[in-house]
Amino acid sequence: MNAELLRQYLAYYEDLGIKTLYRRAPAVAQPAGEAPADAPPTPVSAGSLADVVAEIGDCRRCPLHAGRHKIVFGSGNEQAKLVFVGEGPGADEDEQGLPFVGRAGQLLTQMIEGTAAKEGLPLRRPDVYICNVVKCRPPGNRTPEPDEMAICGQFLTRQLEIIRPKAICALGGTAAKYLTGSKEGVTRMRGNWYKWRDIPVMVTYHPSFLLRAYNVQAKREAWEDLKKVLHFVYD
Ligand code: URA
Repeated sequence: MNAELLRQYLAYYEDLGIKTLYRRAPAVAQPAGEAPADAPPTPVSAGSLADVVAEIGDCRRCPLHAGRHKIVFGSGNEQAKLVFVGEGPGADEDEQGLPFVGRAGQLLTQMIEGTAAKEGLPLRRPDVYICNVVKCRPPGNRTPEPDEMAICGQFLTRQLEIIRPKAICALGGTAAKYLTGSKEGVTRMRGNWYKWRDIPVMVTYHPSFLLRAYNVQAKREAWEDLKKVLHFVYD
């Protein structure tokens, strides 16, 4: 790979919010069939987020690719202890290639940083990781179809396997149902702990829902949910 191509790759990853890249150690040649006497067991590596971005490539695996401008992979800290999972990109995210950057995203940032500050936790949005179940914008912001989630969900799985957060916060019913397999509505699920594999999942309302003027009560509940998950992860 020449220097210009490498520069373009790095700029692309930076646009996706990936700030840290790891170099693989060069392979050491071993005579066939022999392992050094003191060799530790080879760890099974989940790879890096950059590997997953490369694997996604110019994805056309599901119908959502047809209407997208940018793939919205995720952003934040690859070593985050907390991952927020939304449903799928909206118009602003599709344009910028970054998750939760529109009005709902601004509310999410305020919720994370405001709640953390009130609770005395030194946490900013870039400390967590934020992504969605599907990486391309569904037309008209409709709910992603089950087959779209099944196809794209493999990449969410990879993200979660690589980051291995202490907890996941599911934003809204689509993410909550996808991650937990539950068929309950979000109103029943919110505030409760579930599991994705062995990782605890807190369910709360989607910030777009909270933007609607009439649900002051829901806002209060979402703040309670967030407090719960922040204390669980950062105390
Ligand atoms: N809604 C989502 O579910 N995800 C985003 O990234 C933005 C809005």
